[in-house]
Amino acid sequence: MSTTLIRGAQVLGGEARDVLIDGGLVAAVGTGLAADGAEVYEAAGQILLPGLVDLHTHLREPGREDSETVLTGTRAAALGGFTAVHAMANTFPVADTAGVVEQVWRLGRESGYCDVQPVGAVTVGLAGKQLAELGAMADSAAGVRVFSDDGKCVDDAVIMRRALEYVKAFDGVIAQHAQEPRLTEGAQMNEGVVSGELGLRGWPAVAEESVIARDVLLAAHVGSRVHVCHLSTAGSVEIVRWAKSKGWDVTAEVTPHHLLLTDELVRTYDPVYKVNPPLRTEADVLALREALADGTIDCVATDHAPHPHEDKDCEWAAAAMGMVGLETALSVVQHTMVDTGLLDWAGVADRMSFRPAAIGRLAGHGRPIAAGEPANLTLVDPAYRGVVNPAGFASRSRNTPYEGRELPGRVTATFLRGTATVRDGKLV
Ligand SMILES: [Zn+2]
Repeated sequence: MSTTLIRGAQVLGGEARDVLIDGGLVAAVGTGLAADGAEVYEAAGQILLPGLVDLHTHLREPGREDSETVLTGTRAAALGGFTAVHAMANTFPVADTAGVVEQVWRLGRESGYCDVQPVGAVTVGLAGKQLAELGAMADSAAGVRVFSDDGKCVDDAVIMRRALEYVKAFDGVIAQHAQEPRLTEGAQMNEGVVSGELGLRGWPAVAEESVIARDVLLAAHVGSRVHVCHLSTAGSVEIVRWAKSKGWDVTAEVTPHHLLLTDELVRTYDPVYKVNPPLRTEADVLALREALADGTIDCVATDHAPHPHEDKDCEWAAAAMGMVGLETALSVVQHTMVDTGLLDWAGVADRMSFRPAAIGRLAGHGRPIAAGEPANLTLVDPAYRGVVNPAGFASRSRNTPYEGRELPGRVTATFLRGTATVRDGKLV
């Protein structure tokens, strides 16, 4: 393995430092470090972050390789600055057994672009009726710690309680897709002024908030850990803030698109804006940004949801829900949080690496940039300005809501255990 010197990068946005990488580890952090034989990255003006960690990625393999594979998804992740992603369980077959999670975990290892940590299903077949083999998935080679029926809500309170109790044995966490099913039957977009004007079936905020309220109470009751997926409303923020004030073990994530986009975009009837949970209002967006800044929301998670062209290029009601997000996440966070003064780069490192790695109990990721630590690193040029062009995506799918939009920042290099997966903004 070669030696690499990153010269003059602002570590976590602080003072310029040289960072020497050797044998997959950070060997030294300092000034004027010697580069004998090392490959040198001149990084003046660039920000060095710990490799980003995504708690919520849909890689679609096995079963929907027409929209994404572990290989194409991890290539997209590397371009986005990620060194670890959690792969959601709603594949075909569902990741509800040790066999399936080990298959996904192995495919990630083989890709070499980004570590893939499988998420196990909470219930068999995501059907919400019977607990999946949580213990067997935890004990498998994949070492699953995050369990989710994402795409579906664990709406049965008894099943949710049992799952929360069960994962305590191995320090697991239940990541809930909070969507009360009866309140969202046939729902097409956020319930509010715009849905009323467009005549589309609304998806009320209370459908999310009622489930979160129940789950934080259940988690407190059994003394377990719950994580809220893609929190999207101002009311949800208030519930999580309250639960944390009680000292309960509750964490939450927000997606980049919920930090930027609103339901006003649905007026275009362009299905690229159709997503679950739906885009909300400007007031929700501002509350989410504030909550991410003050730490009520722990982390950013992409909910990268690739769909083939034919599932999005149709009328609104028939279109699939979801957006790709791995390759634009950091730019959207810079635009909404850093350039607005809400979060500094150390804060970005916390919300996109340290905290998600801690929630997922991932060893080797979300570590400080210091001698002896694994060299999982991301180098960002914050001064870059570019227009999003999905034709250049590594993802197999193109369903981005940002096509043609100018966004700041670019990942210029990503290192996975010291090996560059991205160099000069391109896959190695
Ligand atoms: Zn979800």
